[in-house]
Amino acid sequence: VSATLRSERIALDPPLPAALRRDVEQGVYYCSDLIADARVDRAAGAWIELDLLGVSDAELSDLTRVVRDWVERTVASSLAYEDTIAREWGRPEAGFRATPEQVLASADLHSMGEGLVAYGPRLASVFGALRELWDRLAAEVGATPLVLPAVATLEHMQRCDFLRQFPQLLSFVTHFREDFGVIDRYAEACRRGDTESACAPPAQDMSSFRRMLRPAICYHVYPCFEGEQLAGDLRLVHAWGDCFRYESRNTTGLDRLFDFRMYEVVALGSADAVHRWRSGMMERVVERFEALGLPGRLKTSNDPFFVSGSVLKSTFQRAHDLKYELEVPFPNREGHLAVASFNEHQDFFASRFGITTRDGEVASSGCSAFGLDRILAALLVHHGTDVNAWPAPTRQTLGLNT
Ligand code: ATP
Ligand code: ZN
Ligand code: MG
Repeated sequence: VSATLRSERIALDPPLPAALRRDVEQGVYYCSDLIADARVDRAAGAWIELDLLGVSDAELSDLTRVVRDWVERTVASSLAYEDTIAREWGRPEAGFRATPEQVLASADLHSMGEGLVAYGPRLASVFGALRELWDRLAAEVGATPLVLPAVATLEHMQRCDFLRQFPQLLSFVTHFREDFGVIDRYAEACRRGDTESACAPPAQDMSSFRRMLRPAICYHVYPCFEGEQLAGDLRLVHAWGDCFRYESRNTTGLDRLFDFRMYEVVALGSADAVHRWRSGMMERVVERFEALGLPGRLKTSNDPFFVSGSVLKSTFQRAHDLKYELEVPFPNREGHLAVASFNEHQDFFASRFGITTRDGEVASSGCSAFGLDRILAALLVHHGTDVNAWPAPTRQTLGLNT
């Protein structure tokens, strides 16, 4: 049976404020798994259009109510002001050398399932060069490396207060219960080639969920400094690796993956020192993007939201300039791609992990986070899929000429 697709337009009255249109378009998927595609009226915010999978009239009226309630809740708990652009550089009008489709069709890019990509030898060496460029940047500012696990316990993430903020992004990890019958039954089904059983082990055979895949790098940094009093004014570390976010139907191309590579530089210190570090870091990073021949802009931003409590948080974030995003022009619906963020957490994490400054005060923290896959995607789209033909300064910056 093929599910029929129907398009329904839900009128929004009052219209959706401009600053919320993108976030609502991307967030609405989490309202129902029957939503296959969503479009918000970007011009006036007067409607949201949903492509729905095999929905009856009764289901449609329920779903319309759920979506309306969610949108209403979102609007009610947000001030929805526009992001401000702090800085812009390069020539966005220079145009693109490749479409995202051409990048995806590259022989060196392998899809391993939805939101999972592998880079073949040629792209892997560019990826490595990019990571080394960031290693040099981290060393320049005095950061030392850490090696961190890709899995986090739920106790830890609860302590970081992450779980209530973005539950829709979480991916839990489980395993079979220690029970010979359960494990043997499963192995037997796999031996028989029973794909249905192999791919859907019964929930009661699995342990409860105590762990998740990390959604970002820096959550594991704070326990490394638990209970410590910092010796200097500022302590800097860096780490990189795979991070995981369930992005629902927004998972597309190279720019929004389920499993993506993040590089973070994390700062601990006095509020002043962390604030100054972040400004300096933004300067250095903009220089790197200029050297890579990538135009862009820095703007104040907020974390996307889903549950209403965190909308207040994003409002607060914008008000206090706690998050800046670096965007590069990109041929997608938004016209750009966020490739990095620069965050100040104030004493949010340090207070939870008992980290204090030289003077014995609760420390502050901040991080700058880079989406390596997105930077690679931006390079490919701006300079073309033939890496050997990239502009000389770009290749030089990446050390690709030697
Ligand atoms: P967006 O608004 O695009 O969802 P974000 O605000 O969630 O981004 P951060 O939480 O600041 O992103 O994460 C740091 C960086 O990690 C981002 O600037 C981006 O480059 C990268 N990133 C985030 N989510 C993804 C993803 N699903 N796929 C690839 N890269 C990602
Ligand atoms: Zn971080
Ligand atoms: Mg996000």
